[in-house]
Amino acid sequence: MLIRIDTEKCTGCRNCINVCPFAAIIIKDEKAFITEACSLCGACIESCPERAIIDERERDAEKSKDFKGVWIFAEQSRGKIASVAFELLGVGKRLAQELNSELCAVLFGPSEEVEELIKWGADKVYYVNSQDYAALDDELYAKTLVSLIEQYKPEILLAGATAIGRSFIPRVAARLRVGLTADCTGLEIDKETGNLLQIRPAFGGNIMATIISPTSRPQIATVRPRVMKRGEYIADKRGEIINIPPLSVKKRVKILDRVEDTSFCKVNLQDAKVIVSGGRGLGSAEGFKMLWELASLLGGTVGASRAAVDEGWIPYSHQVGQTGKTVCPRLYIACGISGAVQHLVGMQSSEIIVAINKDPNAPIFNVATYGIVGDLKVIIPLMIKKLKEGAGQ
Ligand SMILES: Cc1cc2nc3c(=O)[nH]c(=O)nc-3n(C[C@H](O)[C@H](O)[C@H](O)COP(=O)(O)OP(=O)(O)OC[C@H]3O[C@@H](n4cnc5c(N)ncnc54)[C@H](O)[C@@H]3O)c2cc1C
Ligand code: SF4
Ligand code: SF4
Repeated sequence: MLIRIDTEKCTGCRNCINVCPFAAIIIKDEKAFITEACSLCGACIESCPERAIIDERERDAEKSKDFKGVWIFAEQSRGKIASVAFELLGVGKRLAQELNSELCAVLFGPSEEVEELIKWGADKVYYVNSQDYAALDDELYAKTLVSLIEQYKPEILLAGATAIGRSFIPRVAARLRVGLTADCTGLEIDKETGNLLQIRPAFGGNIMATIISPTSRPQIATVRPRVMKRGEYIADKRGEIINIPPLSVKKRVKILDRVEDTSFCKVNLQDAKVIVSGGRGLGSAEGFKMLWELASLLGGTVGASRAAVDEGWIPYSHQVGQTGKTVCPRLYIACGISGAVQHLVGMQSSEIIVAINKDPNAPIFNVATYGIVGDLKVIIPLMIKKLKEGAGQ
C-alpha cells in the first residue's frame, strides 16, 4: 500500500471518509484504514487535520535516487544459458548506455557459459555457483534475487517472460513492493526523467501501452524470447564475476524429476530459420499439407495464426503471436494471414517477411518485405514447383 494511515496519529475524526471518491477508507475501532479499493489518487491526504495519511511514494521517490545500473536475470537449464538472456543483454546494454550506468547479469546455478554473459555485454555477473540452484526453486531464487537487489540496488531488472521468469519474478516484485510489467515488446529510457518506458500491447492487443514506475525501484520488466535482438559479441571483452554464496533456505518444495516437453522439440518454432505460416485463408487442415511441403523444401517448419489453430487445423504449439510463440526467423512466409496486431507482435521482427494474400489491403502487407497479391492455392504450388526445379538442377 503506497498510501497508508499512521494509526498512532489517527483520531478517527472521519474527515477523510467523504473525501475519498472510491469509498476506500473505512473506520475500525475508531481508526481509519485504507482498503484495496484505493486508486492512489491522493485526494484524502490534505483532508486529515492530524497529518495521519502518509503518501509513501514521496519517500520512495527520494529513495529511488540510490538505485543505479541495469540488471538482467540470466536463466539457465542444465547449465546452458537461455538465449533470452543474451537478447536481454542486447537491450540492457542500450539502456545502460543511455543511463550512463553499468550492465550486470545475475546467474543462478552452475554453468560453463558464465563468461559468455560478459562477451555478450555484461560488465559484471553476480554468480551463485551452487548445485542447489541448478533447477528452478521459486522461493530460493526469489529470496536470493531480493537479497541481491537490496544489497546492490539496481535501477532496472529485466528477465525473460519464460516459464522460469514468469514463475518467480512476480514474487520478487511482490516482496520488494514494486511494479512489474510483463511481456514488454519495447523498452526505452525517458530522456527527461530517466524512467524506463515499458511498452506492451494492452486491451487484447488493440493499443500499445507505455507503462512507467516513476517512484519505485527497481523497475522490473519481463520480455519474451525472440522479441529483442542480441547485441554485439566481443570475444576478448573482460568483466567481473562476483561469486555470491548460496542462501540456506528451508525448502518447502522438493524436485523429484524433470521431464522434457518433446512436443515442443518437434515444432521448435523459436529456433527455426524459416517459418511458413498459415491462416484462415488456407481454408482447411488439408491446406497445411502444401505448407509442410514448402517448409521442408526451405529447411524450415510450419507456424499458424490463432484462427487456423482455433479451427482445429493445426495444434496450438504452432501458434505464432501474442498468445502463441514469438519468433524471429530469417524468413517468415505468411500465407492467408490478414495481419491482426496480435499476430504481428509475434513475428514482425523476422528478417524477411513474405506475405501471400488475395486482399491487397490486408494489414500484413504493412510489415511485409515482399507482398504477393493473389490466391495462395495458385501461388504456393508454383513456389513448390520452382523450388523442386531448382533442387533438380
Ligand atoms: C487476446 C487475443 C489474443 C490473440 N492472440 C493471437 C495470436 O497469438 N496469434 C494470432 O495469430 N492471432 C491472435 N489473436 C487473433 C487475431 O486477432 C486474429 O483474429 C487472427 O490472427 C486472424 O487470423 P487469420 O489472419 O488467419 O484470419 P483472418 O483475419 O480471417 O484472415 C484471413 C486472411 O486470408 C486471406 N485469404 C483468404 N483466402 C485466401 C486465398 N485463397 N489466398 C490468399 N489469401 C486468402 C484473407 O484475405 C484474409 O486476409 C488474438 C486475439 C485476441 C483478442
Ligand atoms: S488515495 Fe484516493 S482512493 Fe486512496 S484512500 Fe485516499 S482518496 Fe481514497
Ligand atoms: S482524517 Fe485523519 S484523523 Fe481523521 S479519520 Fe481520517 S486519517 Fe484519521
